[in-house]
Amino acid sequence: MVSAIVLAGGRGKRMGCSKSKQYIELEGKPILYYTLKQFIDNKYIDKIVLVVPEDEKEYCKNEVLDKYGLIIHKIVVGGKERQDSVYNALDQLNGSDIVLIHDGARPFVSQRVINDAIKYTRIYGAAAPGVKPKDTIKIRDEKNFSVNTLERDSLVAIQTPQAFDFNLIYECHKKVKKSKIVVTDDTAVVENFGNKVYIYEGDYTNIKITTPEDLVFAKHFARMV
Ligand code: C5P
Repeated sequence: MVSAIVLAGGRGKRMGCSKSKQYIELEGKPILYYTLKQFIDNKYIDKIVLVVPEDEKEYCKNEVLDKYGLIIHKIVVGGKERQDSVYNALDQLNGSDIVLIHDGARPFVSQRVINDAIKYTRIYGAAAPGVKPKDTIKIRDEKNFSVNTLERDSLVAIQTPQAFDFNLIYECHKKVKKSKIVVTDDTAVVENFGNKVYIYEGDYTNIKITTPEDLVFAKHFARMV
């Protein structure tokens, strides 16, 4: 069984908007509609769990799921940090073989990127899409001076969906929770315990809508999908 977790448990503070960013509309439909639709349409995914904050559960059910006829397995309440939200969803997915974990704020994930996540996880146990950074990346010290320049060819900006053997990610998340380690994504969760993640070619259009300028691209792109 292949399951997917779609994370919309954050408030999206960096967007500086009163409503949670997953409900901002692109071409008349909320961002979260586009994200969920891609996973619902995927032929390999059997179960989808959506994570939202407690006080958005009703709104999300009425204004996204019911309104657009999106059928998923379950809505789960998120936690304080992203990793807590993932944990709550994993807890509901026992019995899965593979689980994909995706940011609800990445509505333009393609079927190719989802399929590759599953394909490579079947081979390597853990996989994530990544793209080469277009800018030169430097380390900066606390006084704002450059420390050094990183070798661009070995750098990769990691996206989602990040996919894993279910037991691997569930066990690693349990350990992270116990040891209070803080992570920003799920590849770091398994890496913390010595596991490697296969990184395949992502997509520059698979952006995470984070700050207001991302919406300019998103509005344009939504017209094309
Ligand atoms: O904050 P960041 O942009 O890294 O969040 C990535 C994804 O994780 C977003 O889709 C957000 O809704 C989700 N998230 C969550 N629970 C939290 C924080 C973030 O599901 N507590």
